[in-house]
Amino acid sequence: MKRFLILLFTLPISFSLFSQNPDFTKYNNEISQIQNNIKYFQIKKVNEQFYMLVGGGGNVGVFVSDNDVILVDNKYEIIEDILMSSLREITDKPIKYIINTHFHHDHSDGNRAFGKKGIPIISHQNAKKRMMEDAELYGGILEFIKDFVQPKYEKNELPVITYDSKMTLTEGNEEIELYNFGSAHTDGDSVVVFKNHNIIHTGDAFVRYGYPYVDLNNGGSIKGLIDLLSSLELLCDDKTIIMPGHGDLSNREDVTKLKKSLLKLYNKTLIGLKDGLDYQEISESIDETLYNNETVKLNYIKSIDLELSRKKL
Ligand SMILES: [Zn+2]
Repeated sequence: MKRFLILLFTLPISFSLFSQNPDFTKYNNEISQIQNNIKYFQIKKVNEQFYMLVGGGGNVGVFVSDNDVILVDNKYEIIEDILMSSLREITDKPIKYIINTHFHHDHSDGNRAFGKKGIPIISHQNAKKRMMEDAELYGGILEFIKDFVQPKYEKNELPVITYDSKMTLTEGNEEIELYNFGSAHTDGDSVVVFKNHNIIHTGDAFVRYGYPYVDLNNGGSIKGLIDLLSSLELLCDDKTIIMPGHGDLSNREDVTKLKKSLLKLYNKTLIGLKDGLDYQEISESIDETLYNNETVKLNYIKSIDLELSRKKL
């Protein structure tokens, strides 16, 4: 009975209230801010065939193949013209398809522009599912994300090709592998590997602004994120170039550093919770130096506790 009551009071009520009255204020504010402030992207050349477009949303990976261009992510609908003019500085070749690393608006809202034009979009099957409904994001370490609702995508803005755990695409001299390692940043993340060029776009599963934001409302998992970073390490050698979801080009060592730091925080949190410590006491037991930000640390501890209690339900 107790279990039933918990389920009744936590899941269905909040869901039904939200679905009747989604509040897009925060989403709309962000879109206007992007529209007003973003005038250009920085184009980072990785090699003759690879570029990264930086600024106004997640990093976009550009692969220039023999006859076409493949994009990884597409930022916001509202700045599609800036994306296109940046792309035209690189090449005149047409976009053959776009891969979405996950469903979050700052990476995939360009679907609302490009999908309509008939450019095929590829994603993990769960990313597509999330795009089909209004999605309330988890606050977590990003306070401004609390109560943020991302509107659903229209049918012609959705991915047309999806996969389950792995997919391989051949493009000129390149093999492109898409991996989903289960729940991590969300439950529909794709790690995109350009095998022959030894370049990996990680989406938001790996970022350079600190500990990655994990969307617990949309299938994300901190434990899963740590596991994903371990799998990512195995896909790399010491020459692999990593395009993170946000931040500068990185390498395997950066991934290892983040993984070790997160794992330490995770294990200390498990021990602390078992010993009945409160969040503040657990935080004090972690002498973390990689990202020494007390608020982020406390938020992670709280999120780990939330993730564990949801598992018990
Ligand atoms: Zn994201």
